[in-house]
Order: sequence, then C-alpha cells, then structure tokens
Amino acid sequence: MLAPMMKTPLLISSLLEFGVVSHPDAEIVSRKVEDGSIHRTTQGEAAKRAKQLANALLNWGVKPGDRIATLAWNTWRHYEAYYATTGIGTVCHTINPRLFPEQLEYIFNHAEDRMVFVDLNLVPLLENLEGKLPHLQAIVVMTDSDNMPDSKLQNLICYEDFIAAHSTEFEWPRLDEDTDCSLCYTSGTTGNPKGVMYTHRSTVLHAIASLPQQALNISQDSVILPVVPMFHVNCWGIPYAVTITGAKLVFPGAAMDGKSLWELIVSEKPTLLAGVPTVWLGLLNYLDSINETMESVDSVVVGGSAAPLSMIKAFDEKHGAFLLHAWGMTEMSPIGTINAPNKQLNALPASERYEIQRKQGKPVFGVEMKIIDDDGNELPRDGKAYGRLMVRGPWIVNAYYKSDKVATEDGWFDTGDVANIDPDNYMQIVDRSKDVIKSGGEWISSIDLENVAVGHPAVAEACVIGIPHEKWQERPLLLVILKEGASATREDILEFLEPQLAKFWLPDDVVFRDELPHTATGKLLKVPMREEYASHYLK
Ligand code: ADP
Repeated sequence: MLAPMMKTPLLISSLLEFGVVSHPDAEIVSRKVEDGSIHRTTQGEAAKRAKQLANALLNWGVKPGDRIATLAWNTWRHYEAYYATTGIGTVCHTINPRLFPEQLEYIFNHAEDRMVFVDLNLVPLLENLEGKLPHLQAIVVMTDSDNMPDSKLQNLICYEDFIAAHSTEFEWPRLDEDTDCSLCYTSGTTGNPKGVMYTHRSTVLHAIASLPQQALNISQDSVILPVVPMFHVNCWGIPYAVTITGAKLVFPGAAMDGKSLWELIVSEKPTLLAGVPTVWLGLLNYLDSINETMESVDSVVVGGSAAPLSMIKAFDEKHGAFLLHAWGMTEMSPIGTINAPNKQLNALPASERYEIQRKQGKPVFGVEMKIIDDDGNELPRDGKAYGRLMVRGPWIVNAYYKSDKVATEDGWFDTGDVANIDPDNYMQIVDRSKDVIKSGGEWISSIDLENVAVGHPAVAEACVIGIPHEKWQERPLLLVILKEGASATREDILEFLEPQLAKFWLPDDVVFRDELPHTATGKLLKVPMREEYASHYLK
C-alpha cells in the first residue's frame, strides 16, 4: 500500500524561501573581490536579488536545463547565482579557476555552458580562451559598473546592471525534484575531468544531513567561515545548509591567506571554519608567527585530504578548536563521513582522542558504506582489514555526466579509496587505491607516511610515492619541501620517522624539493612525480 502523504518536491528554491520567512536577517558577510573591503547583506536581501537575477536570466533567454557556468570566489553574488540558476531549472555549473587552460576549455565545451558568471580578477582566464568556447554566448562580470574591466572580450555584461531593472518578485517554478540543478567536475588526476550532475532532491537531502550535531553541527547560532571554495563541490553544501538554519555566513572572497583569514576571524568571530589542510597550514603558521590564538572558533572542518596529527593537535592545544575530520568526494556531493565530537570522545585522554580524530569519521545519515576485497567479498569491520571502499546513498553519483553508469548492478559506487572500518563504524582512509605502495606483498599507506613526515618541525609539505624496486616491487620515496628558513638533512628526517613507523614502511630515500605539483583542488599530483623518479631505486 502506498500511504496518502503529500509528495511535495524537495527543491533548492524551497531552501531559499524557508530562509526568507524563517530568518531573513541572517547575515551574509563577504570580502569583496574588487578591493578586499567588507560587504554585508542578509538572507532576505540576497533572496530578493536572486529573484532579480532569475528574472534577468529568463529575460535574456535561458531555457530549462541550460548550463550556466560560474568562475568565481566565495561571495554574496555567487550565493545569489547558486539560488537563481537552480531555482529557475537551469544548471549552476561551478568551474574551478585553478584548472589548467586546456582543462577549462574541455570543461566549458563538455558542459556546453551558454553563459558564465565571472569574478573580476578571473576575466583574464576567459580572455585566454577567446574563440575556443563555441557554446558561450554571454559573460557576466560579477561587479558594478564602476569596476567593469577594460577587456578585449566583446559585450561583457555587468552583473549589477544585468539585474538592476528587474523585479524582486518571482514565483519559483514547481520543478520535479529529480531535475538537474548543479554540475561539478572532478579535478582529473588522471585523464579528462568527469562531470557529476546533482539534482534538487540530492542537494536538499545532503544539506539536511549535514546539519546534526554528529555531522557539521550547524545551528542558528553558528557563524561559518567556509574557506572551501564555492567551486569545490558546492562549498561542501554549506550555502544550502545555512538557509535551513539561519547560520551567519562569512565568505572570504579571493583572499585565503593566513593574514586575510585572521582579519575575518577577529572581526566576524566565526564558530566553524571549513577548508582543506593546506589552507589551515597557512593560517596556523601565520598565527604562530604573530603569536595569536583563535577565541571564537569551536570547530574546524578539514576534508579533501587527510588531516595530519600535528594539525589536530595544533587546533586543540593552541586554539581550543576541535578538528572535525571529514571525508567525501565530488561523486558524493561531497559529504560521506564526519568525525564529530561526542561524550565518549571528549572523555578520552587527549592522545587517545587524537588517534580517533585521525580517522575520517562515521557515515552521515543517508550514506551506507562497506569495504571489499579484490573478488568483491565484504571485509570485516574490525578496524584492521582494509579494502576498496564502496558507498551508496541518495546523493551519490550513478553515472557521470554524458557518460555510462558507474554504479555496480546492486547500486554501489567504488570510491577509488582503500579504507578500514572499525567496530564503532569509524572509517579510516588508508590511501587512494592508485597511490597505495605495494612492497614485498605488503601495503604501505602513502597518506600515513606523509602525515608522520609533516610532523617534523622543519617540514612544510611531504609527498610519498611508490616507485619501482628490483627486490621489493615498489618502495616508498619521500619528497619534502622544507619550511622557509628551516633546514634538515635526509638523516634527520629518517631519524625522526624511525620510531614512529614499522621498519619496512621507512622510505628508502628522502629528496628535498622547492615545490610539488598539485591538482586544482590542492591535492598532491603523484602521477608526474612517479614518472620523474621512476628509476630512482633502479640505478
Ligand atoms: P578530485 O577531483 O581530486 O577527485 P575530490 O574533492 O572529489 O577531488 O576528491 C575526493 C578524494 O579526496 C577522495 O576520494 C579521497 O581520496 C580524498 N579525500 C577527501 N577527503 C579526505 C580525507 N579527509 N582524508 C583522506 N583523503 C581524503
């Protein structure tokens, strides 16, 4: 029997409308891209402008399903574009400006974006692609008429002029909840980036699931500083979560260095920060250099790459902030697991708690997970066995955009990560399956090795790769960038690692470098490193 309950669609526009009636005064503070000054608005005001933008887009001639790109930092205008484009039934396609020009070209053309909203300082990226984007018909610069750039591009549209003449009234269409709403591409560590198309339903459910205390703990009283960009998997869903709760949002604009973030922390007093480990390294180093501590921050969400123990400790011991370790991926909208504080965890001695915090956490409601061996058999949840991490849930990809199905027959998605799950349901990433080092029949986690290495006081960044070895098949090589002004020898580093690792895990060599290659989302790009050092142990 199907029970006679109402079936109202889960729509992004209903998030916005809920914010308007429930907490129109909830603040949205942004650092302006134009001049770094602070802009203040509210959910109520932003909703009115999103409606102006919706009217402007329809008047311009967008059609349902059209892809509308954004090439922009975290600001209130980007927030308006998120809601306006999705609300009218077009697709908000956020593009990462840190991608290489060829990747940008590929993504624009693969998505067939008709229009792009671009931040002032990113206009040059489009100038470089002039003549290469046949589908693109309009470029809207997210600024006012006083700041419009001199550009060789023809017919640039000014955002403020584009919306100015339009009404702040708009009735959002009652779309099917399975309608496409936003599109993100993976950063393509191998091959071309792949697109993941989200739906209204998947986005709304993901936003709800991110709220509870055992997830991100977002309430009306939260003040969130998402440093994770709005082009990185929808800013981890935060712009959608805040309209449900009325939390204050603090957008850092284009300035994500330690000093700029610290200024925002002092003036806006965020309780929750969110971003990738590299951003927090920058902030922590800056705070050390000026000898300051954060007072307002309760927790710092860290995801995208593993959070090192030294970072968990630094936030706790120096700043009284809990590092909320989270794991997810573009294919998962992105949240999969979160390692949130709870009574049991808080009761543990710090050193034991840190060990648990190093794990990527427990699945949020909606996400199922299991680990399997190479034959597809499920492995025990004993915290020891590790295998391919499979996931399933309402905001997980079934097929890439314009591509074949990727989920298995029984509906699971292979994350490409290798993990273990303990009896308390905490998941821990061992490595990406393509990065795990196979040495003499044993596995070595490159992530674990990197995390131990960055604990050395002179090490700014570490990258571990497995490279061919005559006897052991593969052996780890440690590549290190030293902190500015710091010095250490190969022997110093190995001596530091030795007591912390099993003997066969110890890298056979340490190479010092000035830089390491990264993907556009800040992850270490290991493929070129493996190629560069392929014969290092074979000489
Ligand atoms: P990409 O485009 O680089 O794949 P994603 O942001 O989708 O970008 O990356 C997802 C991957 O990032 C995961 O599959 C996992 O390997 C890695 N990852 C994400 N969060 C964590 C974490 N907390 N610890 C370790 N690895 C992580």
